[in-house]
Amino acid sequence: MSKQLSWLQEEIQTLKDGGLYNEIRTISSPQGPWLVIDGKDVLNFCSNNYLGLANHPRLVEAAKKAIEQYGVGPGAVRTISGTNDLHIELERRLAEFKGCEAALTFQSGFTANLATIPALVGKDDVIFSDRLNHASIIDGCRLSGAKIVAYEHNDPGALEDAIKEHASSFRRSLIVTDGVFSMDGDIAPLPALAEVARRYDILLMVDDAHGEGVLGKGGRGIVDHFGLHGEVDIEVGTMSKAFGVVGGIVAGDAAIIEWLRQRGRPFLFSSAVTAADAAACLAAVDLLEESTELVDKLWANARYFKSEMKRLGFDTGVSETPITPVMLGEAPLAQQFSRELFEEGVFAMAIGFPTVAKGKARIRVMISAAHDNDDLGKGLDAFAKVGKKLGVIK
Ligand code: PMP
Repeated sequence: MSKQLSWLQEEIQTLKDGGLYNEIRTISSPQGPWLVIDGKDVLNFCSNNYLGLANHPRLVEAAKKAIEQYGVGPGAVRTISGTNDLHIELERRLAEFKGCEAALTFQSGFTANLATIPALVGKDDVIFSDRLNHASIIDGCRLSGAKIVAYEHNDPGALEDAIKEHASSFRRSLIVTDGVFSMDGDIAPLPALAEVARRYDILLMVDDAHGEGVLGKGGRGIVDHFGLHGEVDIEVGTMSKAFGVVGGIVAGDAAIIEWLRQRGRPFLFSSAVTAADAAACLAAVDLLEESTELVDKLWANARYFKSEMKRLGFDTGVSETPITPVMLGEAPLAQQFSRELFEEGVFAMAIGFPTVAKGKARIRVMISAAHDNDDLGKGLDAFAKVGKKLGVIK
């Protein structure tokens, strides 16, 4: 290694010493309630496959058919020769599902945020951003060149104070928040944020990556959950979590969507998800529109798991959703906990700084509709055993 890169080895060693080095597991099975890792069957407690759709036969069949009809590659970016009728159909169906005028799809939720924020605000503008927003929102805000004012987490009063202090010095303003905060599982107070946005006539954007397929009627998301149709200007989302596939979504006013087709840089300069992905997403929308069964099962599983974890004596934080953080404090303890769980046949990731604040390390358990009672029982037994061994519970 060249001398100029020796700092990298030092940094990596620092991560390892601090219990902050990411050990990435290699999986050799489909995403489901169980995974095969290193030849061993392990209970999957860390994927965002909320509804178990990532290997659902209807989605798999739709993707196979699309490959037979369209092949495997998009050919070019969508503005050149890469838009096919499945992309258009998916956008029409997603707009309908979300109750919005129009929708546009992206390669991922991450690129949806990178596309949307800089297309709406620039260097003469200001963004009011929840302090705990996702990295892709933060990066989208930075890319825009606008002034970023972070307000206290989930605090509409702090948002209003920030608006009073800053908004009048700028051309345009944007308020942006996660819908469900992915590390804690708490929900943004969207009705109060919408009220502030309306009062000050400011655009409101919500990233509903963890709310789609989870919150609202049949998984229609946070706007539906709060009955706020027409009061949130931009809904960003992803099809990589509850929808079980891959791809980002932006839904809202037709003028915003038209503008993103013209000025959303990841849309203009990067190829789209494949026809197989789009077809699988369409099958996911079909399933969600047909029945609320999977969403109901997800919530029943999550409620049961959380209440049993609390009964065992674990601190599951402030979650209001199926995201179940198991608060452990220091990162090395969280990593050790995760390793011990793995030995017990449970795959649940430790999350530490910088994903969460220092001293707030945790295991994040992601419950799915695909888990059955037996799976949840096995997971609880493993948590009880490791928790006692490491002195986290009595
Ligand atoms: N926004 C939020 C709030 C997320 O949690 C995530 C996924 N971690 C993303 C955006 C990015 O989604 P994707 O994986 O589709 O890029």
